[in-house]
Amino acid sequence: AASNLGALDAAHHLHPFSDMKKLNAAGTRIIERGEGCYIYDNHGKKYLDGFAGLWCVNIGYGRKEISDAVVRQMNELPYYNTFFGTTTPPAVLLAQKITSHAGPNINRVFFTGSGSEANDTWFRMARVYWAALGKPSKKMVIARRNGYHGSTVVGASMGGMKYMHEQGALPIEGIVHIGQPFWYGEGGELSPAEFGLKVARELEQKIDELGADNVAAFVAEPIQGAGGVIVPPETYWPEIARICREKDILLVVDEVICGFGRTGQWFGHQHFGVQPDLAPIAKGLSSGYLPIGGVMVSDRVGDVLVNEVGDFNHGFTYSGHPVCAAAALENLRIIEDEKLVERVHDDVGPYLAEGLKSLEDHPLVGQTQSVGLMGAVQLVDDKASRKRFEDKEKVGVEVRNHCLANGLVLRATGDRMLYSPPLVISRGEIDQMIETTRKGLDHGLKAMKG
Ligand code: PLP
Repeated sequence: AASNLGALDAAHHLHPFSDMKKLNAAGTRIIERGEGCYIYDNHGKKYLDGFAGLWCVNIGYGRKEISDAVVRQMNELPYYNTFFGTTTPPAVLLAQKITSHAGPNINRVFFTGSGSEANDTWFRMARVYWAALGKPSKKMVIARRNGYHGSTVVGASMGGMKYMHEQGALPIEGIVHIGQPFWYGEGGELSPAEFGLKVARELEQKIDELGADNVAAFVAEPIQGAGGVIVPPETYWPEIARICREKDILLVVDEVICGFGRTGQWFGHQHFGVQPDLAPIAKGLSSGYLPIGGVMVSDRVGDVLVNEVGDFNHGFTYSGHPVCAAAALENLRIIEDEKLVERVHDDVGPYLAEGLKSLEDHPLVGQTQSVGLMGAVQLVDDKASRKRFEDKEKVGVEVRNHCLANGLVLRATGDRMLYSPPLVISRGEIDQMIETTRKGLDHGLKAMKG
């Protein structure tokens, strides 16, 4: 039956974000098993997963503690909802646990099934908040070009991916975009610090253009993930926070990738010293073992929701699903007990940075960036002038495919190679990622320049 799976997949299974025409011809990769930082396909080939699934398997694969917790909860209470004034023990305990790692101004969580739903949720929450304060005109959301906030209509609209907007006539009304702090590709002659300020001030200009009375919120990822692990210049976030404060709009930080240790802090915004009013979360919350997401809600918004609004007419059948919550609770226990956040901050994060830096002598590498275990290698045509390849897709795909053939899963976003391994990765496994990348770079250089 297993040998038949590829054909069945081609015949019956529609894939997200995959060229299905090509897949049908070439056959799908079938992943059967995972252990630690490794996954195994149906031919028994072993891959080091430098991408933690989809930025999410923070504790690594095959942790029996999670499956035990899930089975216990399944047997106790497989489902109950959190609507109409009911709750379940795992949902309560999880909300408390999450907020214990956020700043002192964040004390509440609204649960969803995914990161996309989390973005849809705060979008409505922000509008409800302003309406409750007597400012119903504050409805617009400003987001960023090349950002990613999910695939629902609101999520894809907030996202700044052109290839998503082109499908489904997006963005919807009320969502507009400004630039991204991508100095290497777009900074021109400015220093990174100058460029960071310039791009942040696009927010101020956009708010002035729309009128602050019409703007509900600004949303951004602390470090743009799917857009290419774009680490902003240090000047960027403090300026964004200043503008949101002075213009009185909500600051929303999308922690779906950056949350739960990825950057060497519990949450990515803590790295940049800003305090969000709302923060969608998912992925690392359960290390992807079961689907769960949420919105972390500051007291500023939460107090209004509870005391002024009361009834927020919004929610999902699976909001606070007890089995997913039990998995997430056990996941957070593991992250705490094994001190994985500290491990990323003090040990494997700096070690990955060093490894990536060591690649900067390669003719194909223009720059490397990383925060914790979230990193990128910028591929470039001409290092001195920062001139990028005409065919940005090709160079990334060449390097990525070579790494894949040599047992390393990485992602390429155009001409940037992306790294996001499980937080339990060892130094030896990081060495292996770097060595395989170097071979991939050699191959990519030959493919591009002969
Ligand atoms: N927000 C960010 C920053 C993401 O990276 C993602 C997914 O990659 C999402 C939201 C959407 O999350 P989900 O795929 O769970 O709906």
